[in-house]
Amino acid sequence: MAELNGTHDPGLKSFVAAANDGDCDFPIQNLALGITSDGGGIAIGDQILHLKAALGAGLFGGMAKEAAAAAAGYSLNPLMALGPDHWSALRARASELLRSGGPEAEVRPALMPMAGAQMQLPAAIGDYTDFFASINHATNAGKLMRPDNPLMPNYKHVPIAYHGRASSIRVSGTPVMRPNGQTKAADADAPTFGACKRLDYELELAFYTGPGTELGEPIKLDDTPDHIFGLSILNDWSARDIQGWEYQPLGPFLGKNFASTMSPWVVTMDALVPYRSRALKRPDGDPEPLPYLTSEENEKWGGLDIKMSVAIASAEMRSLGADPHIIGTANFKDMYWTIFQMLAHHTSGGCDIRPGDLMGSGTASGTKPGTYGSLQEVSQAGRETFELPTGEIRTFLEDGDEVVMTAYCNGSGYGRIGFGECRAVIEAAKG
Ligand code: MN
Repeated sequence: MAELNGTHDPGLKSFVAAANDGDCDFPIQNLALGITSDGGGIAIGDQILHLKAALGAGLFGGMAKEAAAAAAGYSLNPLMALGPDHWSALRARASELLRSGGPEAEVRPALMPMAGAQMQLPAAIGDYTDFFASINHATNAGKLMRPDNPLMPNYKHVPIAYHGRASSIRVSGTPVMRPNGQTKAADADAPTFGACKRLDYELELAFYTGPGTELGEPIKLDDTPDHIFGLSILNDWSARDIQGWEYQPLGPFLGKNFASTMSPWVVTMDALVPYRSRALKRPDGDPEPLPYLTSEENEKWGGLDIKMSVAIASAEMRSLGADPHIIGTANFKDMYWTIFQMLAHHTSGGCDIRPGDLMGSGTASGTKPGTYGSLQEVSQAGRETFELPTGEIRTFLEDGDEVVMTAYCNGSGYGRIGFGECRAVIEAAKG
């Protein structure tokens, strides 16, 4: 497991001035990785350390050089495959290179401005699975259908998930087209095919897997940290009307597979060490998870204190230059299942993983209005409206709306690191 070390020192500063601004997502303690149209890089303040250029300047040696070379191409999969020792070596060297008092004159030529960089998906995602790990979301969503009995009987025993679709995942900034699909209104005799009328977002984080495993070889819970590279923000777009008609009995399909959006920067597990927390304490009376989902280590460190938010900026708001309007905020440490339990469960039957597989957490929600991670919860399944600062009324998303998700960690005496943004504008359905 990654451990606290000098790279987390809150006193460290970078010679890139913007990195030292208290609100910056990418201070020198973060060192998030991403892929630009010109290969891999490390975020620092308002700049990107371009790895190909840094390697060309001879700034890396040993394991850090192997790791930088693996991250310098057009996907982070080769770096993800190398494992935690390489990840930590790259981080340690990047921290030396970018800090105040480091070899600034040699590093400067390898920096490129973040503004204008064409960010790509950080990995070639082979498989995508989406969990349902927020008990608050599961309860809020379940209540809409089963007011007296919102949680299914398996919820506290099994980390529930569906196998998603990797081909339609896009990087932040790519517009999302409203899907057409088959729906049936409750009072209609027959289904119809047409544009989705209940387009929704889901506020999530997702982790990328590290070194792959063999078919038939489960990952033990306490070994899962060696197989988790880092996390980004995920918007699991959802067509509620399509989903509501199609989901029984096999779960989400076309209601989810038309698009998913990922933020471009991966915040590594190394960077998140100071923000690890106790796993959610199960309320009295809740069952203990089965032994393969239980460990002292997981209970002590399985949680992640990450603040998340989702906001909407309508076309009108953007034309007025208004900030996105926050609809919901949640904390990842309230998840009922940890990311480590998710991965242990995913492989417990022998399913193998490959570097760069993506596992979503499920919608992160709290228990009250203002903490909901989906409009299904905000609008109570379309029964209630809400208002944007322009006076525009919403139940679900309209064409032209932009959804903006952010996440960051702070506190615990280690300052702030952020995930950047996951955003996309809704475009009209194809006629
Ligand atoms: Mn989801």
